[in-house]
Amino acid sequence: MQLDVRRVRLYHTGRLSEIYLPRGLNGVVVSEENLKMSRPAGDADDGAKSANQRSAPRCPVCGETRYTYVFSERGHRLLSCHDCELLYIDPYPQQADNQHHVVSEYDYDSLKILDCDRHYQASIMAYRSYWPRLREEIRSATRMLDLGCGTGHLLELACQLPGLRCVGIELNRERAAYARGRAPCEILEVPIEDYEPAERFDVITLMDVFAHIPNVNDFFRAVRRLLKPNGKLIFKVGEMSRSIRKDAMHDWQIPDHLQFLGMKTMGWLAEKHGMTVVRHDRVPYADELFAPALWRLSGRSTLRNFLKRSIVVTPFALPLLASLYRLRHGNTIFSSLIVLTPAGDA
Ligand SMILES: [Zn+2]
Repeated sequence: MQLDVRRVRLYHTGRLSEIYLPRGLNGVVVSEENLKMSRPAGDADDGAKSANQRSAPRCPVCGETRYTYVFSERGHRLLSCHDCELLYIDPYPQQADNQHHVVSEYDYDSLKILDCDRHYQASIMAYRSYWPRLREEIRSATRMLDLGCGTGHLLELACQLPGLRCVGIELNRERAAYARGRAPCEILEVPIEDYEPAERFDVITLMDVFAHIPNVNDFFRAVRRLLKPNGKLIFKVGEMSRSIRKDAMHDWQIPDHLQFLGMKTMGWLAEKHGMTVVRHDRVPYADELFAPALWRLSGRSTLRNFLKRSIVVTPFALPLLASLYRLRHGNTIFSSLIVLTPAGDA
């Protein structure tokens, strides 16, 4: 009998070793111990050898099996689908329910991801530029759902609009509890697929959440069920081409992040799920990445905080870094605001 296993490379006490884990352990590898020990594969050759030991990867959105290898991080390959252009991790978790459970239990401290206070501070900065555009989009709405509301700052802003009733969904317990302390509205911890509200929504927002959705097609079906016929689905999301380089991001947070939009993926999804793209604003990622407010925000690393502060106070340092980033990465990565509406109701 042949076991369904995958190879994981570990560095421990300076030595490389390789172990085999059952495929069912997807998601479990994001424990603190494994995050410390696992190391990016870093080359296509390593990924190719792993691929020979399991069935061919299949795009989780369109099912296409042809792909281009992009890079590897924490023992996972990032692949670009030849049809819908989605960039997805391989191996990809097979059980959506399991992934919801993994997210609900995330310990942000051990994952080295921003804790609640820092996440909240970062979102205050992010919404300084996004809120005016979002407010314009939700102006006539009476009922709004923020999916993956995190620490709740968008809901906090939206709840101040007269006549707008809001609901948030956040699967991580720690962030959901934090959001309840910030936004005066209902914050639920239920997967969207299981959510049965009494009334549909005019607006559903997903701000930097797409990478976490474990089953994108089920998700779109659920959204169509929850959205009024003339409602809006609003994404803030990264979009990138398959020529993206790994160093375009400091940390891609793979396998916490399962997928990223390719340049034509949202158009593909809209068509498949009977929706129309009514707004598509692409801003070069460099504009967001080198915003001074972001560099003033403290992270976990004392050294990085020191370097960031030094750069912010040095004249022309940030514009120079932004220019170098643009030279290296060109038009391969964007931060986008995308608005969809059910087809025929645009
Ligand atoms: Zn695809």
